Order: sequence, then C-alpha cells, then structure tokens
Amino acid sequence: MESSERNKDAFRDSISTISELGKRAWIYAKKPSGKLYNLRTILSIVFLVIFFTLPFIKVNGEPLFLINILERKFILFGVVFWSQDFFLFVLAMLTFIVFIVLFTVVFGRVFCGWACPQTIFMEMVFRKIEYWIEGDATHQQTLNKQPWNAEKIRKKGLKTIVFFAISFLIANTFLAYIIGIDELKKLIEEPIEQSKGTLISLLIFTSAFFFVFSWFREQVCIIVCPYGRLQGVLLDKNSIIVAYDYIRGEPRAKYSKKKEEKKGDCIDCFQCVKVCPTGIDIRNGTQLECVNCTACIDVCDHMMESVGYEKGLIRYASEKGIAENKRLKLTPRIISYSAVLIVLMGVLVTLLLSRTDVETSILRTPGMLYQKVDGNKISNLYNIKLVNKTHNNMDITLKLQSVTGEIKMVGKDTIHVKKEELGSSAFFIILDKDRLTKRKTKLYVDVYSNGKKIETVSTTFLGTIARKIKN
Ligand code: SF4
Ligand code: SF4
Repeated sequence: MESSERNKDAFRDSISTISELGKRAWIYAKKPSGKLYNLRTILSIVFLVIFFTLPFIKVNGEPLFLINILERKFILFGVVFWSQDFFLFVLAMLTFIVFIVLFTVVFGRVFCGWACPQTIFMEMVFRKIEYWIEGDATHQQTLNKQPWNAEKIRKKGLKTIVFFAISFLIANTFLAYIIGIDELKKLIEEPIEQSKGTLISLLIFTSAFFFVFSWFREQVCIIVCPYGRLQGVLLDKNSIIVAYDYIRGEPRAKYSKKKEEKKGDCIDCFQCVKVCPTGIDIRNGTQLECVNCTACIDVCDHMMESVGYEKGLIRYASEKGIAENKRLKLTPRIISYSAVLIVLMGVLVTLLLSRTDVETSILRTPGMLYQKVDGNKISNLYNIKLVNKTHNNMDITLKLQSVTGEIKMVGKDTIHVKKEELGSSAFFIILDKDRLTKRKTKLYVDVYSNGKKIETVSTTFLGTIARKIKN
C-alpha cells in the first residue's frame, strides 16, 4: 500500500478515544446548537417526562408498567403477565430484534441519536449540566489543566454532587419500575436499618450510572453496546446515515472570498470534528463511533450559511445516494426483513388477543389410578391449579363438558382465587363404568368464574372397561 493511502486510512487503525500511547483521549465536545439539536432536545424532554412519570401512573390501582424480575411479575399497559406468559415475552423480544435489524438496514443509527437512553441521558442531561457548570469545551479543557484552586474545587464539587444526585434519581426510578412506586415509598419511609440491603443496591446502581455518565461516556456506544458493534454488518450502501457529501465537499480548502472553481465546499473549519461527542471526523466516511447525534449536521449547516454556501454538506443520506445522487430504494433484504417482521407481529398480536385472564392446569393426582364408587361408578382424583392474572378476586366453579358425570370438589364447592395470585384445589370426576369404552378417556372441564365460562381444559380419565359376560 502506498504511504499516502496508508495516511488516508490511518483513522481506521485506532478508535478516536484512545491516544497513541493507548490511554483514554478525553473528548471535549463543543456545545451543539441548531435546528436538529433543538428538535432532539424537545424529543428528549418528552422521553424523560415519560420515563420519570410512568411508575406513578396506575390503572385500577395497579401500576401501568411493572417489570418485577425478582417475583417474575410483569405489567405492560396495565395487563398483568406471569411467568406462564413468558413465551409472549420471547416472541416480543424476537419481534423487537427483527424490527431493530430492519430499521437499521433502512435508517441506520437513527435510534442511537434520537431515542437511545444512553444518548438522551448523556447528551441531553449530563452534558448540558456540564456545559452549565464548567462552560463550553475550551473552558472545560482550561479548568482541567489548571491547579486545584477555589474555582476548580467549587465547579468540580458541584458537578459531582449534581451528577450523583441525578444518578440516584435514575436508580430510584429503575427500582420503581421493578418493585412498584408504593413499595419504593415504603422503603424510603422505613428506618434505614430495615432497608439496608435495598439502600446498598441503590448505591451500587447509582455509582454505576455516575461512572458511566461522568467518566465512561461515549465508550458505552463504542466499546460496550452490542447494537453499535452490529452496525458494520447491518448497514449497506442504501442505509440512511449521517454522511459527508465528499463529491461536493472535496477537495477541501480553507475559506477564501476568491474561491477557486476547482475547490470543494468544505472549508476545512474542523467544526464538525470539534462538536462530535465521539471525537471522529465524519469526512472520513461512516464510522463505528458515529452515534448519529446530528451535531455535525447542525454545525456544518451553520458554517455553510455563514460563508454563503448551500446547506447540507453533511446530511442524512445513503452512501449510494451521495456517490450516485440516487434516492433510497427497496432492496430484497428490506423486503424479506419486512415479511418476517409482519409475520412475527401477526403471531404476537394473535397470541396477545387470545391470552386468557386465567391459566388453569388440571392433572390427575400422581400415583393414583381409579377408585370404584357405589358399585358401578368409577372416580379419578385431580389437582387443579389456577393463575388469576386479573386485578379482581375470582370464585371458580367447574363443570364437565358433554359427558354425563359428576364433579365432586374436595373441600369447598368454589375455589376462591385472589387477584394476581395462584389458587389450587382437588376434585373427583365420577363417571358410570358403562360409559367407558377405553382405558383412557379424554374429558373436557369448563371453568367458570362468578358464573361465566372463562376457559375449557382437557384432561384424561382412567378406568376399567365394563365387560359383558356371555352365558
Ligand atoms: S463543518 Fe463542514 S465545512 Fe467545516 S470541516 Fe466539517 S464538513 Fe467541512
Ligand atoms: S459524526 Fe456527527 S453524527 Fe456522528 S457522532 Fe459525530 S457529531 Fe454525531
């Protein structure tokens, strides 16, 4: 390889946040401003309001959202999901993954820039506070270089306290999503000695958030995030990305009022590099580090405007679109991904719609065969387990479907199952011996709640076949 080519591709040899000595190269990103940044700020406020208020919203006294991994209880949009509904979660996750893949193929990393919680908290909360306390990038750099004087102690101290307080708030909100806001309130009101364990876990999570947002920062997107790592295989030449129009921009040259015809529109002002929170030069082409935050689009538009050139030197475009001035096309990959997504969505909606409020399982009591009753009758003993997924208590009764026989409960005639709890009981099914034609007979039991049929469960009845003795 020619040495000039090697230099051109030198940015590929390392990531922007690692120095030549292998140490962390701290990114001092210039404060962004512009149309897209304002739009992102508005959207982030909406997301943040939703994130912090959702745990307080209740439907019929129950949280709208609860992701209680510890007790395996999940409430989504007020609907209770139990571990028995786990397959729905798996399917939802599969649908989500396919959706993300398809979305990325078409729209690149739009999610990272506009909706990812890491970007929203980092760029729209913590970074804004940092600008407010320490000033813009150059001020931050000066502050870091200066000795520990009163100003530095005051600014760094205030930043640490505010960052830690917000991290604590985020940790508490996440806990509210897990245990519910009422439990969280109880824990807060309890004396510290009684909730030591929770407090320690909260502090561990707070410290993790504090570490991520005060120090680790863009490393999450570059090194840790699996979605970021997948970009290389998901993006193709038709994917929409934040792209530099090299056809229009090159050869770059410092701005001069006597602009020569052969020069490109890039005035080599380096503003797009200075504003980038991951420290890359988008003019080198799309890179793994780019989180599509659009800061370089805003700043470049501003530079173009100030020198009287057309905006959009850096813009949302596809690689092919830039090279050939072509619009985004439907590729076979997009069509096949869409087909899979539609099928998965269909299955998921069907399963969600056919999901019952009560999950019943009826099993013959293990180790028991059958019992003879009153000479010509046979009984089997069954165990019944019910999961009440609703917010109401239920009184359950059972009836045999289509077969003449009798159900005799062990204990009370009705099974009382409290809301969102499990209930169990045992019962006998008693059938006439004459009616049995096989050793194992399939039966259907109708489950009624407060007099209304809610489910039909199949089970088997074990018995001996009545033999007619010939004289
Ligand atoms: S901001 Fe625009 S004009 Fe300035 S260096 Fe970047 S691409 Fe070139
Ligand atoms: S290259 Fe532009 S869009 Fe990508 S991370 Fe940097 S500033 Fe954001």
